[in-house]
Amino acid sequence: MDEVDKIRKEINSVDERILEALASRRKLAENIIKAKGHMGAPIRDFMREERLLADLISKGRNQGLDAHLITRVFHEIIDDSIRSQQLHLLDYEKKDLKRVAFQGIEGAYSESAGRKHFAPYLDHTLFNGMDTLEQVVNAVEDGDADYGLLPVENTTAGSINEVYDLLSMAQLSIVGEEVLRVEHCLLALDEVPLADIRRIYSHPQALAECMKFVSKLPNCQALPYADSAMAVKKIRDDKELNHAAIASEEAGRLYGLKVLRRNIEDQQNNFTRFLVLAKKPSTIDVRIPCKTSLIMSTSHEEGALLKALSLLHEYKINLSKLESRPIPNMPFQYLFYIDFEGNMAEARVAEAIEKLRSATTSLKVLGSYPTEHRTRTSPRIEILAGSPPEADAEAPVPAAQKKEKVSYKLASREHKPDDTIISVRGVKIGGPGFVVIAGPCAVESREQIHKCARYVRECGGQLLRGGCFKPRTSPYSFQGLGFEGLELLAEAGREYDLPIVTEVLSPSDVEPVSRYADVLQIGARNMQNFSLLSEAGRSNRPVLLKRGMMSTIEELLNAAEYILDRGNHQVILCERGIRTFETATRNTLDLGSIPILKRLTHLPILVDPSHAAGKRELVIPLAVAAHAVGPHGLIVEMHPEPEKALSDGPQSLHFSEFADLMRRIYKS
Ligand code: PEP
Ligand code: MN
Repeated sequence: MDEVDKIRKEINSVDERILEALASRRKLAENIIKAKGHMGAPIRDFMREERLLADLISKGRNQGLDAHLITRVFHEIIDDSIRSQQLHLLDYEKKDLKRVAFQGIEGAYSESAGRKHFAPYLDHTLFNGMDTLEQVVNAVEDGDADYGLLPVENTTAGSINEVYDLLSMAQLSIVGEEVLRVEHCLLALDEVPLADIRRIYSHPQALAECMKFVSKLPNCQALPYADSAMAVKKIRDDKELNHAAIASEEAGRLYGLKVLRRNIEDQQNNFTRFLVLAKKPSTIDVRIPCKTSLIMSTSHEEGALLKALSLLHEYKINLSKLESRPIPNMPFQYLFYIDFEGNMAEARVAEAIEKLRSATTSLKVLGSYPTEHRTRTSPRIEILAGSPPEADAEAPVPAAQKKEKVSYKLASREHKPDDTIISVRGVKIGGPGFVVIAGPCAVESREQIHKCARYVRECGGQLLRGGCFKPRTSPYSFQGLGFEGLELLAEAGREYDLPIVTEVLSPSDVEPVSRYADVLQIGARNMQNFSLLSEAGRSNRPVLLKRGMMSTIEELLNAAEYILDRGNHQVILCERGIRTFETATRNTLDLGSIPILKRLTHLPILVDPSHAAGKRELVIPLAVAAHAVGPHGLIVEMHPEPEKALSDGPQSLHFSEFADLMRRIYKS
């Protein structure tokens, strides 16, 4: 015990040193912004951030630390540094007491967003809950509050129309935004079984975000209430055992309710964006990355909106949101709400807005404010894969020489000459880049998938694969862990910040699997399962379509056409070997198909050397050969203990072999 106490003491003192280091780093960041003075250099220097990460990763690795850990920790540190430098340049700081109006009562999500936003000033900030959103606006207009907080959109349930309508009427400016990750809980007086709950109260927006969860509860009514925290208070006061509320865990704690279930939102990545309003617009230092919001209307004639938007394009202004709302009492005429990246204090933006005035029938600038959307600099894969950076991109693909009559249209280069680039949570598949997707054939346990995810991340792999529904040749083989496995895969993906790829076997699984998976895989055995292709075509997830083992290139492209034709344009093709007379390999990897496919189609193409080889020792040579013929990436199987794998063990790489593969790919 003495020994444990001693170690704990040492840990405490290390933690204190970490704190001291963080505090002095923050101080230095503040000094930097003072030293930069009026030089006008932007707060962020992406090149420096990239170099810093590369250096820290290589030093950290020498001390046995994971690149992923270093990246995660330094993302937070860099973000804090940006925030504290911004604070120095903001108006907020100079004001004394801040009175902030929000809709709801203590414990409401709006209040949490306010606390997050005004975190540096909490000791001189007063929060004042109002019954309605309109009262929040009025309080700021009448000078009863300095700032008002309005939720404007949610990533699951969409825009909050009332707020957009209020913005058009209010005499206020937007001076800030806040983004809050919203994790809903089902809260009740006591731990009653879910099946006993008869009524659920919450704000309509929160109910909408948990619609799927609520609709599965038998004989249960969802009832709108003014605010989520008020619903919690109502449950406490009514003392009805079979009533529940949807709100934050914090609201539950505040009013003494029990959590029946956490994370009941329909989408795991559920964020609400809030606007901070004030009476006067603020002028934001141009070094701070900003957004600007405006409301405009255009004349009711052909091309008017396009003309206005092209103006922004002309000034290289990037739109982050476009929303339309009907103009009251003017049927079928609309106000357009636009958010873009830029600051009115920049001459370029001011000029664009001036031009926009003459291209619109009305224009109201709502304000420029620091953006909460801060991209995170990622370490280069070359650094992770342990090789020097390489700058040269792949040579462009020559267009088809002669026209060929083909039975697919949307998949053809003729229809779309430019490469399709599919972005999966920021990872780009297609075009000049090269991605590696790796993971086990099947998810087998939490430990197994976490180990794989960690190692994939460490070596620079960009996506995590793992089958949960396995199409096995024999019905007696391991069939996968199903949704339980999917939850483990999603958890590992979240933990190591890797988008996940998993196979769907049946049309009815497409929708539920899409809730977790970033990419849906359609396996070789299902390449011509047309009802599955159609269903995947109706989903909004990218689809990784594997070539059937008895299929021609043309049949593969026609299978892709089914998905494209149903409206999903995000298809990734995959060559994984075809069946020939040869039995020395599991399949014959048709590398010739890669340059042919690149000529025929704009879709990204991957190679799966694992299923082609069937034998571990062939995977690296095939991967290296595949890389040379120019696909957009690889998908490979690896396992912490391939000898014990429940499926495809013989072809799964050991971790050290995977590291070797990554080095060879990114070094070449
Ligand atoms: C897999 O990726 O695990 C798989 C079953 O692949 P294929 O459909 O190519 O056999
Ligand atoms: Mn497999």
